[in-house]
Amino acid sequence: MPAQTIHRSVWSINPFSFRRRPTRVVPVGNVLVGGSNPIRIQSMTTTPTMDTEATVAQVLRLARAGCEIARITAPTILEAQNLENIKKSLLQKGCEIPLVADIHFRPDAALVAADFVEKVRINPGNFTDGKAFKIREYTEDQYGAELRRIEQKFTPLVLKLKRLKRALRIGTNHGSLSDRIMNRFGDTPLGMVESALEFVRICQKNDFHDIILSMKASNPRVMVEAYRLLASRMAEEDMDYPFHLGVTEAGDGPDGRIKSAAGIGSLLEDGIGDTIRVSLTEEPEAEIPVAQELAERYTKKDFSSTEETLDVSYVDPAGPARRPSRVVKTGPIELGGSAPIRVVSPVVLAPSGAHELLRLLEDRLKKDAPPEIIEIGYQPNPAFPSLYQSFRSTLAPETSRLAFWLSFEEGKLPAQLPPADGYVYRCGDRFEPREIESLNSACGPKGVLVLRSSSVLTLVSMLGLKVLEGRMVVACLDPGSSTQTVHSLRLLAAALRRAGSDVPILLASNGEDPDLAVAIVQGSLICDGIGDAVSVCRGPASRDRLDFAYNLLQACGSRLTKTEFVSCPSCGRTLFDLQSTTERIKSKTGHLKGIKIAIMGCIVNGPGEMADADFGYVGGGPGKINLYVGKNCVEKSIPSEVADEKLVELIRQHGKWVDPLS
Ligand code: SF4
Repeated sequence: MPAQTIHRSVWSINPFSFRRRPTRVVPVGNVLVGGSNPIRIQSMTTTPTMDTEATVAQVLRLARAGCEIARITAPTILEAQNLENIKKSLLQKGCEIPLVADIHFRPDAALVAADFVEKVRINPGNFTDGKAFKIREYTEDQYGAELRRIEQKFTPLVLKLKRLKRALRIGTNHGSLSDRIMNRFGDTPLGMVESALEFVRICQKNDFHDIILSMKASNPRVMVEAYRLLASRMAEEDMDYPFHLGVTEAGDGPDGRIKSAAGIGSLLEDGIGDTIRVSLTEEPEAEIPVAQELAERYTKKDFSSTEETLDVSYVDPAGPARRPSRVVKTGPIELGGSAPIRVVSPVVLAPSGAHELLRLLEDRLKKDAPPEIIEIGYQPNPAFPSLYQSFRSTLAPETSRLAFWLSFEEGKLPAQLPPADGYVYRCGDRFEPREIESLNSACGPKGVLVLRSSSVLTLVSMLGLKVLEGRMVVACLDPGSSTQTVHSLRLLAAALRRAGSDVPILLASNGEDPDLAVAIVQGSLICDGIGDAVSVCRGPASRDRLDFAYNLLQACGSRLTKTEFVSCPSCGRTLFDLQSTTERIKSKTGHLKGIKIAIMGCIVNGPGEMADADFGYVGGGPGKINLYVGKNCVEKSIPSEVADEKLVELIRQHGKWVDPLS
């Protein structure tokens, strides 16, 4: 394929409209990645690579589920050689899915694997380097010598891949950067990008361009920043290689899905990403529908432009951690500024509703993840005032914890406004200034006025009303899961900044239940620092809906209400059953707020990939566990039967343990 080039002026992130980053097309066997091809779905096997039958069966299940590229670990030459048997058996069964050999530390295994698979993945942090972190200053000469050493070890693989027409993924992981990079750039997105570029330049020197790049991290914010930086460096250096997206060690269940949607979705919204892998600590087939749902949004929908156009100054999506906003008080709750991102929950006004809400509140306070602002929809019927009054009286003991908002549709305001801590005005393209005026004057000193509309222009016009001068106002945009919403909300934030307004922003979704689209939209906005409160659906407050809201805030690193778990998806190197072990450790430690525990299947990559975890539980050998505090191994080869208790003891020794509430 002839070399193609792009220039910085041709592509940069436009925060206000979707445009896919132009890339060259890289063939991975019969699957074309990049260019205008669909976003490709991939996964990785978890069976031992030497178990040909089990690995073939798992690849077949993956292919049937819709996986387009399957990765298999090749930790030594033996496994690399066995890829031949796996490939042959798949072909005999009529399965032509391209295979990728996953290589760490072993250039020799990579050279063998290249004979049998369509793509080789290397980790630039450990392809030629050991895994001990040494503090060391590198002079320019020493750094140059290191680069020559890499070139010498890496070039044979490049030449072989070129000759056999195989593809290469240079897959950087945040947690496993080389000492050389760590000492020069630190454990940073910049270090991740430079780590990949060291290897890309060697490929280019040998005129090999079938390269795909990845910048994975378990923290979606770090990962988003690294990919954006990489995209920008690619443009600067006239490089146009496709990207493989993934959040490493995302975990399992809803947490893993929300984290992946927030990280991968943020980048897809920016037009970055050509193939994706959702890493879940579950059977690999379970990753496929999640990845398909994420990719589909960008394959089917028309993102060609936002429906609104405003003359706004540019907002850097990788800018400050949180958009500056004023603090407003609504009942007992502070919202905006540096206050935690608040959770708004709709409720249905039914006779039993207040008692149900009280029970829910009691349960959720134990988890430190309660409803905080209750939104009650006004119903223009004669029974509403008495229902509302009895609801408020039943919840009176909780008025020091909960704020009550009443919401009105445009044109449906009653003559007499019931008291509330905030009024929500919902409208489409049209609004009635007199209605806003009466809501504003009914707010009182502790109330807020929330303006909700599906149009940025309408919101901006409302905010310009004279009547609102000096008032505390929250603005938000519906519906939260529309394809345009990320760009529209960025447009709103930019328009507010331009108008000198620092009103807090509520991110709201109008769907009955939260779904992956809400995680993408609200997750990417929170990662961009936009949003002071979230309302994840219009369905009434429930345990699941509150879990979703708090899981989303936790995934974006914005509000930590439980233990953060980082668990690897497992692969052929895994030394224990990751799914059941993760479940067990979660049940014992899941109540510890604000600490990060990593559960990793092997010591080869586990310690490197668990990045910034506080404690690590890592497979040290068959039936043996190593325990870590930060990056230091403090207990080696503990029998797995006692490892859970030892982990708890370790957390206790470090003053991070609290007993669970009964
Ligand atoms: S940490 Fe987990 S996924 Fe990574 S190589 Fe080890 S066992 Fe495989």
